[in-house]
Amino acid sequence: RAKAEGRGEIRFFEAEMDRMLHDRRALQADLALSVSRNELQLFYQPQSRISGEIIGFEALLRWDHLRRGFVPPNTFIPLAEETGLINEIGEWVLREACREAASWRKPLQIAINLSPLQLRQGDFVSLVHSVLLENNLAPDRLVLEITEGALMDDYSRAVSILRRVKALGVRIAMDDFGTGYSSLSYLQSFPFDKIKIDQTFISNLDRNAQSAAIVRAVLALGHNLDLITVAEGVETPEQLTILRNDGCNEIQGYLIGRPQPIEEYAAIVGRSTGKNARIVVAG
Ligand code: C2E
Ligand code: MG
Ligand code: MG
Ligand code: MG
Repeated sequence: RAKAEGRGEIRFFEAEMDRMLHDRRALQADLALSVSRNELQLFYQPQSRISGEIIGFEALLRWDHLRRGFVPPNTFIPLAEETGLINEIGEWVLREACREAASWRKPLQIAINLSPLQLRQGDFVSLVHSVLLENNLAPDRLVLEITEGALMDDYSRAVSILRRVKALGVRIAMDDFGTGYSSLSYLQSFPFDKIKIDQTFISNLDRNAQSAAIVRAVLALGHNLDLITVAEGVETPEQLTILRNDGCNEIQGYLIGRPQPIEEYAAIVGRSTGKNARIVVAG
């Protein structure tokens, strides 16, 4: 009887796997059309100095699927990477974010996330260069965020491309610091301007002595290497106080503002076309 039940479970499992694979392929096929269907959208999350002064925004991709509604980036970015579609999507993000930032009256920074595959794209450096020129955007307003893990597979090529991008005047941030597999020597080889401490360390900051010790150590490391330190996922005033006392330079998180359509931040960026230009955003 146990055996029969086991076989039943396997059949159920196989059917479930089948359904999941099918669903995945359907999602991938839809994703391929998302750019032309205008289903992709950028949300913007403020980044501020520790004092609270907003110095820029991170563009975060949203996919508003016709039937499924919002599909989170942690679901569809990996799918896009699998099919190589990430290059097209990533280029759309770069163009859209730069076009948007160029329309602001205030010269705030615009950070975008980069997939490792984009660094292997034909000529990523000239793509960035031409998008900056087309939009007349000062290079030092653009920040490229890249994760530690992302740099691993083609180390020397990634170093050389990031150096060339940086030579344009663009800034580079290491995203999700502390969660990847890379060694600290990455901080030496790559031309980073900023390190963003992963939010898992920040969320435990006021509750867990180990997280607090790690954050303090990373902040010290950042300062000694002349890097700007950024804490992501700051949600409470308690976390902010600890970060301020430990000398963190910049913060990002729900405490300052959530990722939202840029219209919600029209007053901050000085966006002339924004409908809500007079609404003052709290935080
Ligand atoms: P990330 O770059 O580390 O972005 C930070 C994530 O943390 C965002 O999730 C943001 O909404 C969330 N977050 C910000 N502040 C808080 C907070 O105070 N509390 C909490 N609990 N969460 C906070 P999101 O937008 O779902 O993006 C997830 C990841 O998807 C990003 O992580 C990034 O790796 C990737 N991603 C997003 N947009 C793009 C894109 O245009 N291109 C690529 N390649 N990846 C992207
Ligand atoms: Mg990021
Ligand atoms: Mg991050
Ligand atoms: Mg992340």
